[in-house]
Amino acid sequence: MKGIFPIEKFRELRTPFYYYDTKVLRDTLACIKKEIGRYPNYNVHYAVKANANPKVLTIIRESGLGADCVSGGEIRAAIKAGVAANQIVFAGVGKADWEINLGLEYNIFCFNVESIPELEVINELAAAQGKVAKVAFRINPNVGAHTHANITTGLAENKFGISMQDMETVIDVALTMKHVKFIGLHFHIGSQILDMGDFVALCNRVNELQDRLEARHILVEHINVGGGLGIDYDHPNRQPIPDFKSYFSAYATHLKLRPHQTLHFELGRAVTGQCGTLISKVLYVKKGANKQFAILDAGMTDLIRPALYQAHHKMENITSDEAMQTYDVVGPICESSDVFGKAVDLNGVKRGDLIALRSAGAYGEIMASSYNCRELPKGYTSEELV
Ligand SMILES: *Cc1c(COP(=O)(O)O)cnc(C)c1O
Repeated sequence: MKGIFPIEKFRELRTPFYYYDTKVLRDTLACIKKEIGRYPNYNVHYAVKANANPKVLTIIRESGLGADCVSGGEIRAAIKAGVAANQIVFAGVGKADWEINLGLEYNIFCFNVESIPELEVINELAAAQGKVAKVAFRINPNVGAHTHANITTGLAENKFGISMQDMETVIDVALTMKHVKFIGLHFHIGSQILDMGDFVALCNRVNELQDRLEARHILVEHINVGGGLGIDYDHPNRQPIPDFKSYFSAYATHLKLRPHQTLHFELGRAVTGQCGTLISKVLYVKKGANKQFAILDAGMTDLIRPALYQAHHKMENITSDEAMQTYDVVGPICESSDVFGKAVDLNGVKRGDLIALRSAGAYGEIMASSYNCRELPKGYTSEELV
């Protein structure tokens, strides 16, 4: 055992695989519960798309969080993990009929609707089932986030949500429909946000929109501000639990919640990011003209974030105490973007060493693909490997 990993157990497993430290996950969940405990009308739905590993989902459900789903498959995964249907919210810019029907059959808490055509379809399908669907409108608040361009979602140029100028119109349309009930407003400005000022900007925008609606005597029961809280990819050990205290208190301070309103959050990355590690084996150390490569058996098919978002995962050689050397750490996939990091300092690497790619619990395993006809990585919890 070097540091926090059961290396002897790891040696028995086929690499690459994901390793989930359930203590980190449970401590993270406990912190969320403690911090939202200060605010009786706050509610957290875990964004299932960050990680839908059944063992991870079950631990999250046990802590009492609801689920934020963006597909029918995610609704099924949440239900299977035991999440109560009345704690499920369903977002997404392109919901298929069967997915809407599934949500209706389960009587989920709310559909976060992104257009009038979608609203019309929900109204029709709900009528056919003899039901009334609860809907919130996802408004695009045109608030930027200090994060990677591929993971901002709340700018006017993004495909998500309904523009602010159309907000009253869509609500008016919903109020004329018999099989939808307008219950709230929904927002989500992006992901991996560490600057609380971005969330404050969202609060200010929500306040403006609420004033506009109140001037027209339109009542909103639920405000959903989405997720987006980031994690510390550089220091997973020093800061394993995100700063939930500052996050929730930013909303408590800046969002003018009316007394009858419930505030909903949809946190994904901040819940599961730090508990997961991708464990991979070194296949070869190759000397190049002016650098050396550590070639791993894990690639972009197992963890696509570096290739997709230029993301950085801290890497450690967990089986070596040798002097530090510098490597380009790459995978085996036939793509030039299959690089985990350039000029990475690692304890001296040899064939067979195990390399840990940290902070990989969100948007890791769930985004794995079988490109190059590879097998999908498995996921193990620390509780299974004792
Ligand atoms: C992805 C997503 C989230 C979660 O984002 P994180 O950055 O992982 O917290 C929340 N809400 C919606 C609508 C999403 O699409």
